[in-house]
Amino acid sequence: MTDNPSGLSQNPEDYPTPDDPSREAGAPTWMSSEIGGVPDEFQRLWTPYRMVYIKSGQMPDADACPFCLAPTLADEDGLIVHRGEHAYVIMNLYPYNTGHIMVNPYRHIGTYDQANADEIAEIGALTQTAMRVLGETSRCDGFNIGMNQGRIAGAGIADHLHQHIVPRWALDSNFFPIIAKTKAIPRLIEEIRAELQAAWPKD
Ligand SMILES: [Zn+2]
Repeated sequence: MTDNPSGLSQNPEDYPTPDDPSREAGAPTWMSSEIGGVPDEFQRLWTPYRMVYIKSGQMPDADACPFCLAPTLADEDGLIVHRGEHAYVIMNLYPYNTGHIMVNPYRHIGTYDQANADEIAEIGALTQTAMRVLGETSRCDGFNIGMNQGRIAGAGIADHLHQHIVPRWALDSNFFPIIAKTKAIPRLIEEIRAELQAAWPKD
């Protein structure tokens, strides 16, 4: 892959216009005026909770913790990249960028100071490996890595500790938020998960 990790052409002429009758529903257009309506379509397709409920045959449980449930599923369904002994690596379903993954302890703890020595060590080691794997597969130029501790600090799932690893490219501050974040990323999450899993060093 080059510095265009989305795999989408950056040539406007390669995209149909929004009113092109041959264009499939939801297919990318160049700077489409209908972008605002499309992300919702993909979010429904990729809602993690839904997969959990389909598998379990149960009604949605508002109290269910997706980071406790995900490891109980098959890798493809839980979007698991790698399973360690005390922590695991999972794709982020609402990524800030292509290849946005998270390292989570299996244990349902909310903040970093609650993590034990084994969890701290493995979260650190998995974060290092994730950087190497993402660097090799996506040739990113840098990373944002961090934990939002508590809902006030921006944690979407505040009750279960998770470390974000967000690859960054030199051009992502202009091109990707418009095209990739709203279109390419949701369609490619499983593709990227499989690629990262295949590239992950075998124990
Ligand atoms: Zn949990």
